[in-house]
Amino acid sequence: MWIGIDDTDSPVGMCTTYIGAILVRRLQSEGIQVVDARLVRLNPNVIHKTRGNAAICVEAKGDIDTAFALTCACVEELAEFGAAETNPGVAVSGVQPPPDFYYAALRDFCNLGEAVEVLKSVGARYRGYKNQRGLIGATAAIASDFPDRTYELLAYRKREMWGFHRQVDRESLFFAERMTYPHTWDTVDWENDVVVSVPHTPDPVLFGIRGESPTWVTDARSYVRSEESACEQVYTTNQGTDAHLVPGTVGMLREGRSYLVRGTVAATPVTGPGGHVSFPLTDEGVEVRCMAYEPTKGFRDVVRALIPGDLVVAAGSYKGESLNLEKLGISRLADAVRVRPPICPTCRKRMTSAGTAKGYKCRACGARSRDPEIERLKRPIRPGWYEVPPSARRHLARPLVRGVPAWQQALYG
Ligand code: ATP
Repeated sequence: MWIGIDDTDSPVGMCTTYIGAILVRRLQSEGIQVVDARLVRLNPNVIHKTRGNAAICVEAKGDIDTAFALTCACVEELAEFGAAETNPGVAVSGVQPPPDFYYAALRDFCNLGEAVEVLKSVGARYRGYKNQRGLIGATAAIASDFPDRTYELLAYRKREMWGFHRQVDRESLFFAERMTYPHTWDTVDWENDVVVSVPHTPDPVLFGIRGESPTWVTDARSYVRSEESACEQVYTTNQGTDAHLVPGTVGMLREGRSYLVRGTVAATPVTGPGGHVSFPLTDEGVEVRCMAYEPTKGFRDVVRALIPGDLVVAAGSYKGESLNLEKLGISRLADAVRVRPPICPTCRKRMTSAGTAKGYKCRACGARSRDPEIERLKRPIRPGWYEVPPSARRHLARPLVRGVPAWQQALYG
């Protein structure tokens, strides 16, 4: 059976993944065998999300009525019912719904009616609380399909520690990354010297280690020194897979979806207020604004080094009429040239313009030249793929250390 939960937390507490971890233990203690626990990230652009738009799916074997009762009890006990924006949903089905609804919730927007229709079509048991919005994520979770997957070990805090400063030894996190990278990633951000794996929100998560297998995340975890955890759960997840991205075309992008788009840089990037960098990307005469926000730090230097004529593929969410960059593939660099008046062959002094369309003239000897000096400049960047640093990476974004999928490489050319 597939058990889905969503929308149990609020900005001031709880986390749906924690309820998932507790549920796994309660199912097991009732003799229900847990086959897999999935942390399912959905469209990062939905407005009602608390933080990272996560839902949980537990795949299990056993009595479905017992599982449904346990799941509802768990949510009723732990969800933040007092918060206005918390609208939990629970769905349990003996048949996995087709993945279409998962892909719609991952890449697009869905409504409650559509979720309920899917649940009814597979004869699922389900319960929505308050306005029932959580049923959307719960349904997407049980319909989820991970052709590519990564893993996250989540360590949770003891209840008496919730809301207090997290005791996690910073050096041990850097050491864990050093010992296990590239099999784990985003525990820390070396370039910016920050810890990425310890949240600052008042939820039960102590830290999370992301990596390519349960063995690697568990190995990395063994190096971490911290306050004692209450429990730890390794989730199978679609994080770090780019599952949210689809190929897009400039001019055909839809608000709130995420794309990989090919185009040509149409003008020199500019740095605006707050340090955000933007440039227009063009394809077939249509333009879209690409943005690299201040938190993307050094990635902005790559963006600033672009010049008109560079051929790129840009990945990110299309929001507020701009494509917010997550990564960039630079396929072909345009020639950067400096056009100046030539040097006088007699006087060795630089000539000056003789007027519009009149060429150049040497002020010293009066010699004339029609052609300017064209200097080819060395570009500070090379073709290739570039990404935002771990501290600015979205959950679904695939780190380059995991490689570039074939469909993206094909668009890159
Ligand atoms: P956390 O990451 O801390 O678990 P969250 O960011 O996942 O919190 P939720 O509290 O789960 O946020 O809120 C997201 C809400 O949006 C849920 O009610 C979920 O059902 C709904 N939702 C998720 N994806 C979509 C979508 N594609 N279209 C419409 N609603 C969605």
